[in-house]
Amino acid sequence: AKTSGKRTFRFFEPQMDDQLQARKGLEADLRKALPNNELDVFYQPVMHAVREEVCGFEALIRWRHPTRGMIPPDEFIPVAEDIGLIVNIGDWVLRQACEQATRWPTDIRIAVNLSPAQFRSQALVQAVVNALAATGLCANRLELEITESVLLEDSEHTLTILHQLRELGVRVALDDFGTGYSSLSYLRSFPFDKIKIDQSFIRDMSENSHHLPIVELVIALGRDLGVTTTAEGVETEDQFRKLQALGCTELQGYFFGRPAPASKIRLSDGKTRRR
Ligand code: C2E
Ligand code: CA
Ligand code: CA
Ligand code: CA
Repeated sequence: AKTSGKRTFRFFEPQMDDQLQARKGLEADLRKALPNNELDVFYQPVMHAVREEVCGFEALIRWRHPTRGMIPPDEFIPVAEDIGLIVNIGDWVLRQACEQATRWPTDIRIAVNLSPAQFRSQALVQAVVNALAATGLCANRLELEITESVLLEDSEHTLTILHQLRELGVRVALDDFGTGYSSLSYLRSFPFDKIKIDQSFIRDMSENSHHLPIVELVIALGRDLGVTTTAEGVETEDQFRKLQALGCTELQGYFFGRPAPASKIRLSDGKTRRR
């Protein structure tokens, strides 16, 4: 707590003070992360359910903090959003991911996560155009993942951006599907190429679970709407076979591969096959 003037005010409990200190420290470190080369992009394979082959990768950011080790994105992305760093960091990830994808066979797609602040930014479409132009990646190999929170904001602006992206030939996926409030209505109002079924639904798909009928419904809905469905967080052979039988288009999860640095990804005879 600060003491100033003749009166002493305690705005914060001592433990709040510690939290604030830690937060300020994290913010200061995060501002240096990109210039200090502490950020990295990992790639997790996405499998085509019928071909049982890798058809793409999702780019997932990593931060190697100099003293604290790996800090998960769920911890620092929200901070980057708050302090206005996300647009810079997001542009960097986009560029890295596009660059990396040009080294893979042309039937392999790359998915990049967009935070709501990036999506709101006037510069998003131009940033995507620039990343494609600078790397020479074909637009139809790039997929952008957005979450429902983006759609909650200004739906007219959102719709304009989504149409502009699709006009470029870029694909757009609705991430974490099912975790929001009105996912189903969004499918009707916005043009998506892909629905990513949140891993919380995949985790518990046992026969008597209420999650199984939801997963079945979303896969059937995707088929009816002509939208690709991807199941996230597939960890077991049992889940894999069940989702394959239900007709889910693509599968992603630790069962097929964890996120890894690009240098660890092995491509056999020009194709990335299941390990
Ligand atoms: P997400 O987009 O839903 O990404 C999927 C997360 O689930 C990743 O966590 C991934 O490592 C993890 N995952 C994949 N398969 C499995 C599995 O079988 N089991 C379990 N338990 N987890 C699995 P990660 O890499 O920690 O990323 C967390 C979140 O951080 C992402 O969730 C995304 O929202 C955000 N994020 C990551 N990279 C970026 C980025 O470059 N930009 C933005 N804006 N957000 C990012
Ligand atoms: Ca994602
Ligand atoms: Ca997700
Ligand atoms: Ca998520």
